[in-house]
Amino acid sequence: MEAIAAVKILQDLIALETVNGQESLVADYLAQLFADYPVQIKRINYAPGRDNLVVEIGDQGPILGFSGHEDVVAAGNRKMWQTDPFQGVVRAGKVYGRGASDMKSGLAAMVVAMLDLLEEDQPLPGRIRLLASVGEETGEYGAAQLTQTGYAADLAGLVIGEPTGMRVRVTHKGIIDYYVTSTGRSAHSSCPQRGENAIWPLIQFAQQIQTIMDQHQEQDPTLGGLTHVISQIQGGEQINSIPAQAQIGGNIRTTPVYPNEMIMKEIEAVVEKLNQAGAHLKLRYSYPEPPLPDQRKTKLAQLASKVLREQFQQTGEFCADTGATDASEYIKAGKFPIIIVGPGMGETSHQPDECVSIADYLEASKFYRALAWAFWQQ
Ligand SMILES: [Zn+2]
Repeated sequence: MEAIAAVKILQDLIALETVNGQESLVADYLAQLFADYPVQIKRINYAPGRDNLVVEIGDQGPILGFSGHEDVVAAGNRKMWQTDPFQGVVRAGKVYGRGASDMKSGLAAMVVAMLDLLEEDQPLPGRIRLLASVGEETGEYGAAQLTQTGYAADLAGLVIGEPTGMRVRVTHKGIIDYYVTSTGRSAHSSCPQRGENAIWPLIQFAQQIQTIMDQHQEQDPTLGGLTHVISQIQGGEQINSIPAQAQIGGNIRTTPVYPNEMIMKEIEAVVEKLNQAGAHLKLRYSYPEPPLPDQRKTKLAQLASKVLREQFQQTGEFCADTGATDASEYIKAGKFPIIIVGPGMGETSHQPDECVSIADYLEASKFYRALAWAFWQQ
């Protein structure tokens, strides 16, 4: 594909305002790019206006998955932007806009690679399955739906196109966001014995959970340690009333050393103990995501590194990050390797003036195509 046509696809995707929703705009646009080819296209609806899209090319052979999310985070304060965040403005060799880095460039580069593969003179010895997901930024529930409906079960490997500056990201931390709600009974503050203070059990919870998390000092060699932050607290109705309602929220970043199930059991045990002592606590999680265990020894990671070194003058180095990706869901589907490689750098993601270099974007699409051939022929 001509560079100008490839850049147009990225600009078009940025112009679709899929801020935490409306992903069907992207699904429709991508489906139409493949309309003239003999490919399988499926829409998996999550909610009104929110379609995951699955596109498969090739007829036989091992399936390499390409994963990208269709949603973006909000633009934030538009006065902080030099350009319209939903225009895909080109300036000095870069495309600017929300999603330019995270990750409409990765998604577009994968799509361009697939369209180029469809134009090859020879029959393809394997298959590519594009998994374009909804809701990655708000809980990876599109990837969860695609995993639950079997679209990842028969993959031989998976590449996620999140921005890595074309390094091979082989591991990342998991996430547990939790909320503990406490219910008490209000009373005049001059007669506290008539009420039940909803705040006090949460203070005990906070102290106990922090003590337990502080004991988890073992480090993952690449990801470092588990982290825990109590990040939200609300409660009480007015200063001279016994509080009847309160809530505390926390964020934990897990590593393979301390798997999510183990940490969740510890949280649940603290809640249960306090409830047995008379508190009324309710625990809820918001989309917990397991960590991605280190993939660097897998054939796919080794192959990606080799292709980057030998064909693209890149270092092919492996890297890690704390942030979770759709990998946390797809990993539940089976034992295939997962790597994260994409154009753009994390630094501009979720920021004003998010951008990607056009050269990096075009190189990424050539890399995905080269990796597909190397993967099929290994
Ligand atoms: Zn992303």
